Amino acid sequence: MTAEMHPSRWGDPAAAAPLPDTARELVRLAFGDLPAPAAEASGSRIAASAIDEDLLDGLRRIVGAEHVLIDDDLRRRRTRGKSTPDLLRNRAGDFAEAPDAVVRPADHDQVQALVAYAAAHRVAVVPFGGGTCVTGGLAARRDGLAGLVSLDLGRMTALRDVDPVSMTATLEPGLRGPEAEALLAGHGLTLGHFPQSFEFATIGGFAATRSSGQASAGYGRFDGMVVGLTAATPAGELRLGTAPASAAGPDLRQLLLGSEGALGVITSVTVRVRRAPEATVHEGWRWACFADGVAAARTLAQAGLLPTVLRLSDETETAVNLADPDALGGADGVGGCLMITGYEGTAEAVAARRAAVTAVLSGLGGTPAGEEPGRAWEQGRFHAPYLRDALLDEGVLVETLETATFWSGLESLHAEVTGALTGALDGALVLCHVSHVYETGASLYFTVAARQAADPLAQWQAAKAAASDAIRAAGATITHHHAVGTDHRQWYADEIGPVGVLALRAVKDALDPAGVLNPGVLVP
Ligand SMILES: Cc1cc2nc3c(=O)[nH]c(=O)nc-3n(C[C@H](O)[C@H](O)[C@H](O)COP(=O)(O)OP(=O)(O)OC[C@H]3O[C@@H](n4cnc5c(N)ncnc54)[C@H](O)[C@@H]3O)c2cc1C
Repeated sequence: MTAEMHPSRWGDPAAAAPLPDTARELVRLAFGDLPAPAAEASGSRIAASAIDEDLLDGLRRIVGAEHVLIDDDLRRRRTRGKSTPDLLRNRAGDFAEAPDAVVRPADHDQVQALVAYAAAHRVAVVPFGGGTCVTGGLAARRDGLAGLVSLDLGRMTALRDVDPVSMTATLEPGLRGPEAEALLAGHGLTLGHFPQSFEFATIGGFAATRSSGQASAGYGRFDGMVVGLTAATPAGELRLGTAPASAAGPDLRQLLLGSEGALGVITSVTVRVRRAPEATVHEGWRWACFADGVAAARTLAQAGLLPTVLRLSDETETAVNLADPDALGGADGVGGCLMITGYEGTAEAVAARRAAVTAVLSGLGGTPAGEEPGRAWEQGRFHAPYLRDALLDEGVLVETLETATFWSGLESLHAEVTGALTGALDGALVLCHVSHVYETGASLYFTVAARQAADPLAQWQAAKAAASDAIRAAGATITHHHAVGTDHRQWYADEIGPVGVLALRAVKDALDPAGVLNPGVLVP
């Protein structure tokens, strides 16, 4: 079994640390002295496993008795994901929605047998990869079903095939990011998918949520890397993707990508891979203001000159990341904006792309800030989630949300969402960066920090609703890479419209007529 995360915190408990002094000083400056938040519950409420013994026996016959687990500790860890509301509920000891059992299949055939059994016996199934979901995608409803099991893909961790000629690899869904990269490195290859949750999220989860990594400018989104997949559904198995491109009707792979366990369980993914890079370099650029940096990012994207990594922080995020209290709260643009650019590939390719990008950015008025900001970003890039735990401990409410739109609407979307969040959360700090760029537009990733109210869960839910309303009012997508889950369903329905909802429900009815796969997740 792979390492488990702390149930109510992010990541490896050994890597957790209290808030650094510089961050503590920023918190004091921004929010004054904070009262201590409610202490973490020492005990927890978890209902006894309510599934019938006969049903458990049926599950045991499929995967073996030792792979059907009903102990409270594991059921707690499989109850939900890692959004701030998830962490707040877990900290309060609320595990009322825990699954009845955790079932751990070994291969595609066992997954297929499990979903068929669950459909025949009306048992809800929640596929579980790394458990890093931030949109309530692991919080399925029981809906009068005979039980709810977490289908843990943690035993399916093989690199099944490498085709070095076509540059593809077939991976099992339970592989976490570092495990997949280590297996590919053995063949001199990389996937190049590095979301902030990389250390714990899985291949199946990346596909099921259409994840996007920090090097997406160079390697693309995860859904763009997938050339084929297999999935087990109650209606039978799906094997999709027979050629690099095809005109054989609508691309059904796209139905499973982003399906969040509601249409089938993804049991293998064939991805396009690249040669492991010889050289990697990250560096910083300063811009006088966010608008200048956005224009520069757009110019690079539209000129076909993207680096491997391209991120642009707004003025507030730049000030906070530099731990610069003078810039924070000062006049607009006082500290300007920091852009991180990164390059990976052969030494010659890195040098050539870096020179071309440098020429464009210098010509647009950017100021090179050297490699130090790039190194700092690279070293700290998987650490921010630990900082969230330390801030929650100090009485700061902190959470993130993301969206995307076309370039022509990006700056007004930035202003609208920032306004919605500051309007809903008195005295909040709203940080934002452009996280992923395309020829036609980009995504915005917001981090919000505020003084915790007496009921931080309700406090965040109100702010999140205000931000989501602002996103839809601006015509932007409710999610660029966090997926729909349960939290975004209402706004997703608005985004795809009534006929879109009808089509999605029809697919759900065809593949999962008993409605046992992740009930209440994704499908409005
Ligand atoms: C701190 C933090 C940082 C993050 N940073 C990023 C980021 O940079 N980029 C990004 O894209 N996302 C990010 N996320 C979101 C999250 O990591 C992704 O949604 C991730 O892709 C989910 O993978 P997982 O293996 O953890 O899936 P889980 O959380 O286990 O599951 C997610 C959803 O997919 C379903 N599912 C899982 N596996 C399968 C399968 N094999 N078949 C069918 N359905 C399945 C689940 O039922 C659930 O609905 C972040 C999350 C956190 C907490």
